[in-house]
Amino acid sequence: MDWQRGLQELADMVWPRRCGVCGGFLRTEERYVCAECLKDMPLTYFWSWRGNPAEQILWARTYLMGVVSLFYYSRDNDYKELLHSVKYSGNVAVGRWLGRMLGEKMCEASYPLPDVIIPVPLHWRRKWKRGYNQAEAIARGISEGLSGDIPVLTGILQRTRYSTSQTRMSVGSKWENVSGAFVIGNKKSAAERLSGRHVLLVDDVLTTGATAEACWDAVRDIPDIRVSYASIAFVAKPG
Ligand SMILES: [Zn+2]
Repeated sequence: MDWQRGLQELADMVWPRRCGVCGGFLRTEERYVCAECLKDMPLTYFWSWRGNPAEQILWARTYLMGVVSLFYYSRDNDYKELLHSVKYSGNVAVGRWLGRMLGEKMCEASYPLPDVIIPVPLHWRRKWKRGYNQAEAIARGISEGLSGDIPVLTGILQRTRYSTSQTRMSVGSKWENVSGAFVIGNKKSAAERLSGRHVLLVDDVLTTGATAEACWDAVRDIPDIRVSYASIAFVAKPG
């Protein structure tokens, strides 16, 4: 609407917004990322790629129906800054926006729709300290992008261990760190709500697949559950 655009123009004059990737000033019609960075986003196209590299990482360890990510995470570009701003600066709106973008891509590719979406939980102490779970913002965005009414369930899957931040740990210790870290809170109610359903688990980044595997371990015994996994970024192995 015109008045909204006017307000945005005014706000941009007073407090210019910057692109979350290149840091350049945003134009009035741009949201979070400038048009150039949006065009150059290193998309994975996993939503229309069966047997994609993310699925290959998890094949031998889980029975996931599919794995999708929005873009490649790389040291060589600044798209990772988007995730950092969601995770560490409380930019949940960016998380939701990225989630919606991924949901729309999945929708366009006729990706099998989940019945419910479950964000990978933080330990309650970490969530309390941070004030939000970035995966939950992404999950809500994906639900919107998938055209709507797919419920986002929190509380069913719980993280039992409060561990140190994973960012500084090696790949090997990261596996140790999350293995067995997730449980189903109330098994009876979870079985009622999830059995026979297609569940999409959502996280911000997929690296070694350790988190996806640990979540899978927590839900695998629910009768007839089908599980897929989605993340905003996928860290491709070097080489
Ligand atoms: Zn930019």
